[in-house]
Amino acid sequence: MAITQFPRLRFGHLPTPLEPLDRLSDYLGGPRIWVKRDDCTGLSTGGNKTRKLEFLMAAALEGGADCVITQGATQSNHARQTAAAAARLGLGCHILLEDRTGSEEMAYNHSGNVMLDVLHGATIERHPGGTDMVAEMERFAAELRAEGKSPYIIPGGGSNETGALGYVECARELMVQADAMKLKIDALVHATGSSGTQAGLVAGLAALDSDIELLGIGVRAPREKQEAMVRDLATRTLKHLGLGADIANLKVEANCDYVGPGYGLPTEGMKSAVSLLARLEGLLFDPVYSGKGLDGLIDLTRKGRFAGAANIVFLHTGGSAALFGYPALWEND
Ligand SMILES: *Cc1c(COP(=O)(O)O)cnc(C)c1O
Repeated sequence: MAITQFPRLRFGHLPTPLEPLDRLSDYLGGPRIWVKRDDCTGLSTGGNKTRKLEFLMAAALEGGADCVITQGATQSNHARQTAAAAARLGLGCHILLEDRTGSEEMAYNHSGNVMLDVLHGATIERHPGGTDMVAEMERFAAELRAEGKSPYIIPGGGSNETGALGYVECARELMVQADAMKLKIDALVHATGSSGTQAGLVAGLAALDSDIELLGIGVRAPREKQEAMVRDLATRTLKHLGLGADIANLKVEANCDYVGPGYGLPTEGMKSAVSLLARLEGLLFDPVYSGKGLDGLIDLTRKGRFAGAANIVFLHTGGSAALFGYPALWEND
């Protein structure tokens, strides 16, 4: 793969560990479940955006940027990791937050990731739900340019063909790791949102000719839209890599049955999954992404979706900082 042709900075703690979840596996009585610890990538409590930012921030610096602009939901992990990466590189960081949940809770609006954005020195501008955030970023960039600044726009979630390269690389990292452990991985499961993580993995696994079954658990869009987003970005990412072959046959699967009432809105399944893992494995997951992903993994395992599989890997995409935006969820557990 020609991935080395792209500029990349190295600030992630990579490779991330691949660990067995033995108490969860025993509890579910199905295949052995493993966790790929992308919650341990470094950068301000870690998470999946670190891998994308290694490529995105390198592109920003190569283009001569002195600041970055990005956008996300109020409790965006992507915004927080971007603010941390910008701080580390001495770049300005401007974050546009969209109110996607309508929550008026103090903690949701000011603690967790929001607090960390400010702590890392980013500016925050808030917008109501439904705002055209892409247009707002363009407007903000024009204003900065008029002041003589050189902004670089990073899309929401870092999900474009540059950011997705981080997960093309992750697919390779996981294969090398599994080979060294003599582990045959049957399926890889993770939370999918703005689609860059799954698109990078789809592209990376296809490029490696891997037969690992990849399953995204949606946190926002309905299935058809989610799968189309992933397929589109995976296709563009493969083209970006100069690997156009077989792209018509890309396998993309997103199960969007665990979203509940909407993006960032808690579900009972998410609450149970997050507390189960906190108590069985001592691990933290989050209410918006990895908790819903886990809910899907646990429920589908119980329903026999992985019958016959020996080893399932759950990609832990991080997000635990968002727990502090939802302090009341487990109060009466
Ligand atoms: C952003 C994010 C995801 C989803 O990744 P996408 O590339 O946006 O699909 C999953 N989990 C966490 C914790 C995230 O912050």
